[in-house]
Amino acid sequence: MERIAEILRRHWGYSDLRPLQREAMASVLRGRDSLVVLPTGGGKSLCFQAPALALPGLAVVVSPLISLMKDQVDALTDSGVAAARLDSSQTADEQSEVVAAIRRGELKILYVSPERLLMNGFARFLGAQKLSLIAVDEAHCVSMWGHDFRPEYRQLGELRQAFPRVAIHAYTATATRQVRDDIVEQLRLRAPEVLVGSFDRPNLLYSVESRADDGLRQIRAVLDRHAGESSIVYCIRRADVDAVAEKLTGAGYRAAAYHAGLSDEARRNAQDAFISEEADVIVATVAFGMGIDKSNVRAVIHAGMPKSLEHYQQESGRAGRDGLDAECVLLYGPGDYGVWKYIIEQSESEEAKRIAMAKLGDIVAYATGAVCRHRALLHYFGQELEGGNCNACDVCFGDLELVDDALVLAQKILSCVHRLEERYGGDYTAAVLTGSREERILTSGHDALSTYGLLADEPKKRVRDWIEQLAGQGYLSKEGEYNLLTITPSGRRVLRGEETPRLLKPAAGAVRAATAGADSWEGVDRGLFDTLRVLRRGIAEEKKVPAYIVFGDAALRDMARRRPTTVEGFLQVSGVGEAKARQYGEAFVAAIREFCRNRELETDVDPDIKAVPKPTRKGSKARATVDLARPMVYERFDRGQSLDAVVDGIGKSPDAVLEYLLGYLREKKLASPEPWVDAATFDRISEVARVTGTARPINILRQLNGLVTYDQVKIAIVCIENGE
Ligand code: ADP
Repeated sequence: MERIAEILRRHWGYSDLRPLQREAMASVLRGRDSLVVLPTGGGKSLCFQAPALALPGLAVVVSPLISLMKDQVDALTDSGVAAARLDSSQTADEQSEVVAAIRRGELKILYVSPERLLMNGFARFLGAQKLSLIAVDEAHCVSMWGHDFRPEYRQLGELRQAFPRVAIHAYTATATRQVRDDIVEQLRLRAPEVLVGSFDRPNLLYSVESRADDGLRQIRAVLDRHAGESSIVYCIRRADVDAVAEKLTGAGYRAAAYHAGLSDEARRNAQDAFISEEADVIVATVAFGMGIDKSNVRAVIHAGMPKSLEHYQQESGRAGRDGLDAECVLLYGPGDYGVWKYIIEQSESEEAKRIAMAKLGDIVAYATGAVCRHRALLHYFGQELEGGNCNACDVCFGDLELVDDALVLAQKILSCVHRLEERYGGDYTAAVLTGSREERILTSGHDALSTYGLLADEPKKRVRDWIEQLAGQGYLSKEGEYNLLTITPSGRRVLRGEETPRLLKPAAGAVRAATAGADSWEGVDRGLFDTLRVLRRGIAEEKKVPAYIVFGDAALRDMARRRPTTVEGFLQVSGVGEAKARQYGEAFVAAIREFCRNRELETDVDPDIKAVPKPTRKGSKARATVDLARPMVYERFDRGQSLDAVVDGIGKSPDAVLEYLLGYLREKKLASPEPWVDAATFDRISEVARVTGTARPINILRQLNGLVTYDQVKIAIVCIENGE
């Protein structure tokens, strides 16, 4: 392992190993077969690449995609490793050159496609060379149980026979037991060491938002948090891809569209633009992503719900492969379920339909559930999250708040479904509950129902969300072509008060923007980082490789943190090995020197913080946010603007604005709530509060049923407390 440490420093510039990398490398060094299951971004490649340099002979790596092989070989070569690939996309001359290099014993790592490897003559040729190991990357492709079975991978079973004395190591990110067992069997691994890592990705910040309209405002909010960085927006349908891409481009974003309906060329251009960072955003269907190794994707936004949690994990997992913080936002609309249900119903076999509907139910439960997102995802894949608060999802951040009296609220909703004789959908039911004057409601006389207008104080959209949450938790089900709401047996238990659902509403004022990535930006000069990115892009273009092959974002941030002005100092940067320092050291050091001189920035900083923050859970520090909007909002309150006017003016939700107002009243210690609550209402609330106390605003609301709103009660309470 000492040798490995030296290799890592020299070629990769890394000083630490990630979880299980040490164990995985030890298996390779000992020549014992292994199966390593680590999540995307877990660092599987290093598990065989570093030992390959420590062992005598040639390491053969089987990989399913030419684009992946090319990326890996480019990255290795750039780090000073003698690596090459053999696949059908190369000319005969190129292939013979590689074969000659193998013969001369010049190569340490050879990437090869499965069909090329098992070509009769070639296997025999390789068998005559000294091989250090065989690595099968993306090994789940051998299994029919996996999501990406490839028939040509099945032949890899012949490897064992063809190379009986070489250890075989399999690597995958697919966690299910069935796939794992199948890999061992198909590849005929001999008493393999099986290493399964945690599937949690602590550096990913997960959140789910209820989609407003077409979701564009929410998408832009996320993109703006990562301006100038790479993001992926996934849409369900091709038409949505085109529409979103067009709107983003129109609004000045550097966005490209990608889906199977485009020509090969258009797709290739979009992908290249994204990889070379000419485009910051790629808007795509699920067709995009396989074989994309881009490590510095900072946000993955789902504009619509994917059809399963497997898909969600895979797609959202493309964020933050470099271990730096990244955001995964799922925008969920009630219509998404119907879209998928319709698509699933077109499938042929009953069995497939049943499985797909069950998976759809699971993701709806995730989207509408109130459980920590990391915990929920991990649990789905058969692992449990250790510890309490994950500090990296909307639920744990408290962006979502549990509704105070969920039982009563749920009963109101379920009673309304009952009164509507279980013959209407979610939209209609929400309209009745909020007392809508829509014609369809008046014509059918539903304004006379006892549940009409029962939730008139709430925005219709929120009521609609609660209906979805109840459906997601199994208290309501959606039946037939029109998704008519019906009450399930557990829903009936709620009506009898025997069971209480968990209902969520957005918490006010949760400003996550500044939080995302706060840690990994510590000490980094953003201006310098941006300057170095431009330099990186230029070099990458010249070399015709993706930008992240030159340096990952983690390395650039560490440069902008340490600001080395010598090549020796440059070598201290995490992610800078000797080969990189030799090739790029001078250019980067010169850029750093110039930038720092012009701005009188301190150089050659030796940060006592860890160079590259490892993806570990953050403590409460991560939540210490700087709220940039607050002064702007407070200034409007100073001018006496109403809540509605502020909502319109700053584009935040009514809840957020209310929370700002409460903070404002506390900070200014105002004992009068005018102009936000009129004097008569304030008196009324104060009177009740004298009896009930101010600890449970909901009690005051109940006593004054219909006379005041919940917002007014909350505002009044702050002023009452200020006056005490
Ligand atoms: P996987 O194949 O498991 O999805 P990769 O092998 O592509 O993951 O690694 C993801 C990223 O993490 C790459 O940019 C890689 O260089 C980086 N990486 C891997 N191991 C380490 C380490 N020990 N220290 C720092 N970065 C690492």
